[in-house]
Amino acid sequence: MHPDMKEVIFTEERIRARVRELGEAISRDYAGESVLLVAVLRGAALFIADLARDISVPIEMDFMAVSSYGSSTKSSGVVRILKDLDELIEGRNVLVVEDILDTGLTLKYLLKNLASRKPRTLEVVALLSKEGKQRVPIQCRYVGFNIPDEFVVGYGLDFAERYRNLPYIGILKPEAYAEEA
Ligand code: IMP
Repeated sequence: MHPDMKEVIFTEERIRARVRELGEAISRDYAGESVLLVAVLRGAALFIADLARDISVPIEMDFMAVSSYGSSTKSSGVVRILKDLDELIEGRNVLVVEDILDTGLTLKYLLKNLASRKPRTLEVVALLSKEGKQRVPIQCRYVGFNIPDEFVVGYGLDFAERYRNLPYIGILKPEAYAEEA
């Protein structure tokens, strides 16, 4: 385990198994159709890479980058699109791939923006969802794991751009945050 970690909450094996289940569910639900996976950079990069390989229907991938005004650990709900989609999504099945659903403010804004482009369907798959934290209702069709309200890192998730490459998801020791301050 990385010396900055206090606790591992999902091992590499557990994540692998759950992502496979999500891929199977998505493949069943979109049987006979194709899906455009839209990942929100950068946290969802590892998740989309694994999930895409567990989906058996035809997929395409596209990416968006957004920045949320406010501090790095608190969402303000005001979102700026830094990189927009390259694809047109009108009439297509769009599945937004998110790393973690916290307040839901970022996703709420994104979904409203994407919905205005008239996709045929618009759904969300989030690897993690913080229980009881959502400040706006989000229809999230697929959720990997519900977690308590703790700041987590690993498997794409960062603290100050670090720890994204850890193969597991865990909680940092308090000292690891203090170093940044
Ligand atoms: P929301 O707008 O509050 O739902 O924030 C969503 C975004 O905040 C996620 O896509 C992550 O990039 C980031 N985020 C929220 N919670 C965590 C966490 O526990 N660890 C790392 N990033 C997080």
